[in-house]
Order: sequence, then C-alpha cells, then structure tokens
Amino acid sequence: MASEYLRSSVHVHTKFCDGKNAPEELAVTAWKQGLATLGFSGHSHTPFDLEYCMTQSRTALYRAQVTKLKARYAGKLDILLGLEWDLYSDDDPAAYDYWIGSTHYLRGPKTGKYYEIDWREADLAACIADDFDGDGLAAAEQYFANVAAVAAKKPTILGHFDLIKKINAGNKFFDENDARYRQAAFAALMAAARSRCVLEVNTSGMARGFRQDLFPGEALLKEWLALSGNVVITADAHEKSGLTFGFEQAAAQLKALGYTKVQVLGKNGFVPCAL
Ligand SMILES: [Zn+2]
Ligand SMILES: [Zn+2]
Repeated sequence: MASEYLRSSVHVHTKFCDGKNAPEELAVTAWKQGLATLGFSGHSHTPFDLEYCMTQSRTALYRAQVTKLKARYAGKLDILLGLEWDLYSDDDPAAYDYWIGSTHYLRGPKTGKYYEIDWREADLAACIADDFDGDGLAAAEQYFANVAAVAAKKPTILGHFDLIKKINAGNKFFDENDARYRQAAFAALMAAARSRCVLEVNTSGMARGFRQDLFPGEALLKEWLALSGNVVITADAHEKSGLTFGFEQAAAQLKALGYTKVQVLGKNGFVPCAL
C-alpha cells in the first residue's frame, strides 16, 4: 500500500525513560491515528547514566506493560517490545522484538569519563577540552568509531547515525564539512554497509528544534544510496503527538535524493514500501 511508512512508528520513548507518556497513552494515540505498528524503544539501562535511560526496575515494568498492551491490542494494532540500546548498556538487546543501536556517549580517552554528546553544550565542550585537546573533530572521529562498533553488532536499526551534530548547529564545535569529519562518517557508513544495517532517517532534530536537517544529513544519505543501503523513517518520539512527525517531509527528501523505497518495520520484520 502506498504511504505504508506512515503507519509504522518504531522509535518511541515512554515515561519509563525520558518520554512524556505512558505506553498505554501512546498505544491509544497510535490506534486512533490508524497506525498498523507501534514499536516501543525505551533507552537501555546504562550503568553510569543517571539522566535518561531506564533503571533496571523500570525496565522490568516497561517490559511487563508493553507485553500486556501487545495482548490487549492484538488484531487492532501490532505492538512491538523494542529497545534503544546504547553502546555502553549492560542490557541484552536480543531479549527484545527488535533493537535500535545507538551512540549517545563518548568515553574520554584521558579521563575515562563518559560524556553525553547530544544534550548540554557544556558537556560536549568539556569533553572536547579535557579529553580531545580542544580538537572537536577528534571527538567526532571517536563518535563515528563508536557508531561503527554499534553497526558491527548488527542492530535491527542503526540509530541517529550522525547524532554528534545535534548541538553543533552553525558548526559551533567542529566543521561538518571538514574532510576529517566526512572521512570518519564515511568509514562508519562503510561499517554499516558491511553489516547490512537499516539506517534510520530520524526526524527528531527538527521536531525538537535543534536542527533543520535529518539524522543522517543529505550528504550521508546520498553516500548511503550509492552503497545501496536501506532506510526506515522514524520520529524518535518523546510524546504522543509526535509519533509520525515529519515522516512525509522525510519521504519527500529521500525521493528527491533518488531513493525509491523505504523499509517499514512490522511484526514480521521489514517490508519495503515504494516512495
Ligand atoms: Zn537515541
Ligand atoms: Zn531515541
């Protein structure tokens, strides 16, 4: 069916991590909106993270509630129990219906500290100053090495490929057009191609007002197309109103770049959908 990609939203956070709504509220919204598939992807437990991931006890509640909803909505809406797994998580992604592999942290090579790279400018600034000798591109290189490490684990979906640019609008910390940045990103893209990853085209930078572009940006999407890579459109929704935010715009951008299809995740795995 045309526009089937509008009926599957599989990068969704609940209040068990840093989302605003309970799973039940999201399920009702998805059903009323006419979605065929709703995939929950709570942030995996990550030992040092005190900010946005699920604690172990919340993970257990999350699993129980989503499992219950799955049964309650059977025949009306396919619900998937997923996980957004961080490179430094100690949870087992194989215990979920599917998983999104993501990099949210850099581990400082000098101090051993973990820095969140997508939220506070002060954190990224400290990371670059204290652990990368003030060289923002070196931090970006480390980030993309982490992305390549996640790709090698063959996640169902490789999450927000170039998240490191999220708070870098105006090239504040590093130049995204620098050859070093592009080479590091391309090396990670090659790793993703080797693992036959499905890359998500994530609209959340726009939804949350950080960026005017997608994760990944157009230059990377062009390279990915040249590598015959597959993509899935996601919202990285943190509230019920955003389940399919920007999907049509993302599809139009992909089409303009030459993509002819996107992948749509359902209960039986990915199905291609023509653009
Ligand atoms: Zn994420
Ligand atoms: Zn997310």
